Amino acid sequence: MSFDTAPLFGAIEAGGTKFVCAVGTSTREYVAIGSIATGKPAETMQSVMEFFAEHAPDGLAGIGVGAFGPIDIDPLSRTYGTMLPTPKAHWGGFNYLEAIAEYTDAPVAIDTDVNMAARGELAAGAATDLSTFLYLTVGTGVGGGMVVDGRPLIGAGHPEMGHVTVPRAPGDTFPGGCPFHTDCLEGMASGPAIEHRWGRPGGLLGEFQTRATEFEAWYLGIALADFTLTLAPQRIILGGGVSRMDGLIHRVRDRMHRQLNGYVHALAERNTLDTFVVLPGLGDRSGITGALDLAKSVRKAT
Ligand code: ZN
Repeated sequence: MSFDTAPLFGAIEAGGTKFVCAVGTSTREYVAIGSIATGKPAETMQSVMEFFAEHAPDGLAGIGVGAFGPIDIDPLSRTYGTMLPTPKAHWGGFNYLEAIAEYTDAPVAIDTDVNMAARGELAAGAATDLSTFLYLTVGTGVGGGMVVDGRPLIGAGHPEMGHVTVPRAPGDTFPGGCPFHTDCLEGMASGPAIEHRWGRPGGLLGEFQTRATEFEAWYLGIALADFTLTLAPQRIILGGGVSRMDGLIHRVRDRMHRQLNGYVHALAERNTLDTFVVLPGLGDRSGITGALDLAKSVRKAT
């Protein structure tokens, strides 16, 4: 492989409904970006590799994958890159590294979708000026990527912040939707929870909009206060489709402020939360940008 110009990197943001793919020279310079509907693994990966072949005909210097879970992300593990048992049909047991190796010898690294979004925000988004922060995504599920000194926090597996216990909002009779815990944070505040509670999707809440926002702000504000007390992030980035609900982030800051009640000195004034809890700097491109950044970190010597 040779490169006349800057080497190209490949990025995959693998989701349950679509795979976003990108080719670029850096986290700020894309050559191409596209998306593919998620089908069975072999077909989906073939489409991804065709995308790469079209936009990087001379090959890629590295590939980064941000994948929906559960997945083994321990590079030292025998099953690194393998999907663990998942309700998503056909994907349990699928291994990204083996699938990609059928097409290219480019080095590949893989991490969770939420860690990848955090990595993207660190590289080029709302966290370029700090090193310890939380990226919480609220969408189909709720997940947190905690970055400590520039690296995702990984201990016995990755954190599962979506499944913490939250007190029930006054007047909320929705039983909760988590198959494991019923009314944990994800069970009460994910996109599907909103849809089931009100009988309609988050974008079409109509007369329920105000109460729905109130409930959502309750659960997220309390959870963010707890995460702040536990992990001491320098900032929290609130990503995912639900976070973009009209007026929600403002109400989340209000609720979090009441919950902390002045105990965290740096956040004692309400207006400090306006820059402490923020939307992603990269919009919906945090994950794919993180995957591109990861690809650069595994680049092959040329
Ligand atoms: Zn749960």
